[in-house]
Formats: sequence, C-alpha cells, structure tokens
Amino acid sequence: MSVPLLSVIVPVFNESQVIGIFYDRATRALAAIPGVTYELIFVDDGSSDDSYQQLTAFARGDAHVGVVRFSRNFGHQIAITAGLDLARGDCLAVIDADLQDPPEVIGEMVEQWRAGADVVYGVRSDRDGEGRMKLLTASLFYRLLNMITKVQIPVDVGDFRLLSRRAADHLRQLREHDRFVRGLVSWIGFRQVGLPYRRDRRHAGETKYPYRKMLKFAADGITSFSAMPLKLATWMGYAASGLAFLYLGSVFVQKMLGYTVEGWATIMVAVLFLGGVQLIGLGIIGEYIGRIYTESKGRPLYIVDEVIGLPGRDDRTAASAATPGTQPSIPVAHGR
Ligand code: UDP
Ligand code: MG
Repeated sequence: MSVPLLSVIVPVFNESQVIGIFYDRATRALAAIPGVTYELIFVDDGSSDDSYQQLTAFARGDAHVGVVRFSRNFGHQIAITAGLDLARGDCLAVIDADLQDPPEVIGEMVEQWRAGADVVYGVRSDRDGEGRMKLLTASLFYRLLNMITKVQIPVDVGDFRLLSRRAADHLRQLREHDRFVRGLVSWIGFRQVGLPYRRDRRHAGETKYPYRKMLKFAADGITSFSAMPLKLATWMGYAASGLAFLYLGSVFVQKMLGYTVEGWATIMVAVLFLGGVQLIGLGIIGEYIGRIYTESKGRPLYIVDEVIGLPGRDDRTAASAATPGTQPSIPVAHGR
C-alpha cells in the first residue's frame, strides 16, 4: 500500500507577519509525522500585504507547498472550502495561519484518523490571550445555538480539525453560500472525536474577525441550522395579543368600577410595543430572505486568480470545483 497523503489547508488573509514563522514550524511538525507524506495548501484570501509573495517563494523552494490565490477577499469559511476542493489527501487538516492552533497537534489527529475517526476536531481546553468578552460571547452563542438547532455543534470548537477523505467529499457537496463550516461538519455525521488542545495567543498581527464579521458569522450559524427565529416572531405575536386580552379585561373592570380611562399613555405603549414586535418579525424574515436570495443567484463560491505548485489543479480545475454542476462524486465504497 502506498503511503497515505495528508493535506493541510491554511487560509491566509494579510498574515505577512506570521506566515514565515508558521511555514517553518508547520513544516517541521508535518515532516515529523510518521507514515504519511504531506502537502501544505495555502489559500490566499485576497491579501493586500506581501503574504502572497512570501507564499509563492515557499512554493518555489518546496515541492510540498501549493498556493491558491483568490481574485479578492471571499472570507475565511470560503477559503477553507476552496482548500478542501483542491486537496488530494487521504486525510485533510484545516489550520489557521496565526499559530493559535499548534501544528504539532496534527500528528495526534492523524493517529485518531488511523484509529478509525472520520472527523477529529480540536477542542480548545485552554484559550490563552483571548479577551473575556470574546470568551463570554462565544460560550453564550454556542449554548444558544445548541438549544435551537437539531444538529449538535460541539462547544469550544473552531475550524482546526482533520477530516477523512469521505468526510471531506461529503462536506464538499454542501455548497451553500453563507457557510458555517463547523456546523456543516457536525451535520455530515460519521465518527467524530474531539481532541483537547491548548489554543495559544495569536503570534503576531491582528485578528481578522472584527465584531462586525463575528456577528455575521453568528447569524450564519443560526440561520443555516435553525428556523427557530422565524417561529419566534409568531410567539411574540401570541405574547402581544395575550397581553392585549389581559388589558382588555382590566379595562372592563375599570369601567364597571366607574373609573374614567385616560387612555393616551396606554395607547402609545400598545402602539409602540406592537410596532416593535412587527419590526423584529420583519427583520428576522429579512435575514432568511436575504440568504435565499444569495442562494438563488447560484454564483460560484469563489473565484481563483492563480494556482501555484499544485500539479493537475490549475485555475480551471479550481473554478469548476466551485460550480454546482460539477460537484465531486461520492465514493460508494466506504473504505479509505
Ligand atoms: N482569514 C481569511 N479570510 C478572512 C479572515 C481571516 O482567510 O477574511 C484567515 C486568517 O488569515 C487566519 C484565519 O482565517 O488564518 C483565522 O482568522 P483570525 O485568526 O483573524 O480569527 P480569530 O482567530 O481571531 O477568530
Ligand atoms: Mg486567530
């Protein structure tokens, strides 16, 4: 049997300060994993600094390295998807470029894969150097998400994970635009195991997820996996009419007792309350319709500008991988 290939996918967006250090450390860690060969695929997500120039230099000097450049910034989740589309490995790992996820852990993931796991996801047992606010909001978000979705998405899990070939092939069939990859991975099922690791501080540079992007990401997570917010509007409607009925009762009582009702304040309250409830309902529906609209346009997920060092996978291959008509076929045999 030939030696299995491990593909390691690294999304990169303006990481010129860390990318060199990442490359050295990852190369050392990957070369040390026994019994596999590896390919290191960097997806440059439209960086405007010199990340791409550095990556091209790595690819020229090292046959293990391949680089894909997007025509513009398409986002972290899409970059991961493009990497999965192009990788040829028997098992595929996804890791951030900022050294928050230690590349040395990939070796342990490969062991779990050999033991039969289809998905090995990194569980952040310890998160160094992340603000209290980020930890608190993340923990609240995942608890809420699990309350309202049927798919169980594990808490404290990011995109640092390893997939078997068949898990990756199934994942690649899910071509939705507003992607929440960690949820999609939970959705495909199979044997999934968690692997605790220590998440370090970002090595250099700044987070590429400002609050604005994080909110969008959270909204994608909820709307892709739950229709509960749509029902929320109905519940708010029930609650509002329930309150209105109660108030009606009290009006009758007041009338019988002979109080004159002044009315203005209560009418204002009722109008504002109902107006608010309706706007919330409309907003929620809008979130979903916006996503339906995006899907209905049927655009490819990303556009590739250039591919370097990935033989047989030039930009035409990459572009066709993104078109819905040419999706990868699912292997019938379930062996690896
Ligand atoms: N990233 C990307 N495209 C983007 C934003 C981020 O490819 O639009 C990459 C980034 O270079 C890094 C990874 O995604 O390798 C995670 O981003 P970051 O570390 O900024 O997120 P955080 O760890 O702060 O959540
Ligand atoms: Mg990071």
